[in-house]
Amino acid sequence: MTTVKLYWQNYIDGTWSDGGAGRIDVHNPASGEVLAQQALADVADVERAVQAARRVHLSGVLSDLRPVERGRMVQAMGRYLLDHIDEIAPVLTLEQGKPLWEARIEVEGAARYFEYYGNQAETVEGRSIPLGAGYCDFTSYEPFGVSAQVIPWNYPIEMTARSLSAALATGNTVVIKTPEFTPLTNAWFAYAAEAVGLPKGAVNILCGLGHEAGAALSAHPQVNQIVFTGSVQTGVAIATAAAQNVVPCVLELGGKSAAIVHEDADLEAFENDLRWGIFFNAGQVCSAMSRVIVHANRHDELVERATNVANSLTVRPGMESPEFGPNMGAMVSHAQRDRAAGMVSEAVKVGAKVAAGGSAIDHPGAFFEPTILTGLSPDMAIANEEVFGPVLSVLSFENDAQAIEIANGTPYGLAGGVFTRDIDWAMQAAQKIRAGQVFVNEWYAGGVETPFGGYGKSGYGREKGREALWNYVQTKNIAIKIKGKI
Ligand code: NAD
Repeated sequence: MTTVKLYWQNYIDGTWSDGGAGRIDVHNPASGEVLAQQALADVADVERAVQAARRVHLSGVLSDLRPVERGRMVQAMGRYLLDHIDEIAPVLTLEQGKPLWEARIEVEGAARYFEYYGNQAETVEGRSIPLGAGYCDFTSYEPFGVSAQVIPWNYPIEMTARSLSAALATGNTVVIKTPEFTPLTNAWFAYAAEAVGLPKGAVNILCGLGHEAGAALSAHPQVNQIVFTGSVQTGVAIATAAAQNVVPCVLELGGKSAAIVHEDADLEAFENDLRWGIFFNAGQVCSAMSRVIVHANRHDELVERATNVANSLTVRPGMESPEFGPNMGAMVSHAQRDRAAGMVSEAVKVGAKVAAGGSAIDHPGAFFEPTILTGLSPDMAIANEEVFGPVLSVLSFENDAQAIEIANGTPYGLAGGVFTRDIDWAMQAAQKIRAGQVFVNEWYAGGVETPFGGYGKSGYGREKGREALWNYVQTKNIAIKIKGKI
């Protein structure tokens, strides 16, 4: 039995504090009951956090360190998370809804970011540029300063870890705006920062309403760089605020990612991709495999297999699923669940067929059935708009060009996949799919090491991998005139 602390404060300038905007109830989506209360930051709290982060940045206490020393602290934060996984994972399950085994995977994934970017800290090297005998010229990379990071509710621990670890490794200080639905587990980043000896004010973590604290943070004139993960609508607001202050931002937005399943694909193996691709985290994954575009000759077999996968999953409170298995948890909130239900019933009204699931589950909590929809045409809303739930849209194609056209037919471009035994087809599809990452024969292939981000409305900039480091630093060129004396 996990007992959750009833009230959680914000962490500003090394001190736990109440929020100027009061408190918000955090619900357990598996029951609908209030789990705890979280302090809500107001504009003044945001101001204090930014000033604390700025003070630490300007002091040079972090940015002047030899990178290996910063790197060791960043790595130690990851180890701290792993050491406390038994405390963090249940709270994550209770606030977010995911099965306990998925929560443990998320904490391990978060720790992995700190390991990876801790390792990378001392690899951010400049280069020397030849200008002839009279000069010595070289580049160096400096942190931007205060990195503002606005976090979504679907992977609160992993998304914060992704940007926080890279920002600290490169010598930035950070203000994190946690999501209203799932703010609690972010507290462990504050505990970790203290435990590894980061200076007070280097990491600030506050929850607040998006349109208040989130907007104040992203428009703050002393924020030097912004990282945002969330919806397109909010991404546009944040990019606009960043533009007003002429600061760079990284946008990781939504997706409607498609797997193209060729006539020769191994459909038995593909069942595993379906299981992870659309039902992991109850489909609330930005790079979820929310569409499958299958060759017409394999359509019926694929639908039968997908239906079996969907029907094999037990949907229940995440705390009842400590071990990996065929189970799915609640969605994050009743509102998200109802939105998914609404999108499915709209699709049915315009001709979609429900091969599996299709409805909210009549049980307290935000549960939705694993759902497979068929009979779709590419122009239907359900085939274009992000459901952000456990709902797979199955479309079919007759020829290769059509498959690519359907895959590229939405405004998004976060991920894509191709499943085939034919290397030429795989390579051609990989080249033609307009998305930031393409998975061949395994959805979610890759890791912390591989760059991740979107084409089109899925955003810009890249997180993960070495690529992401360059979002957190700015280039300085130093040119030295050498006087001839010899
Ligand atoms: P959201 O955009 O509503 O909220 C994300 C965060 O932005 C929250 O912390 C929220 O408080 C804050 N926010 C809201 N309005 C704001 C404003 N005006 N100014 C500043 N901050 C504001 O998104 P969500 O509902 O939390 O997350 C779901 C969406 O996020 C989906 O579309 C999903 O695809 C996307 N997502 C993308 C990724 C990725 O890596 N690409 C990862 C997770 C989620």
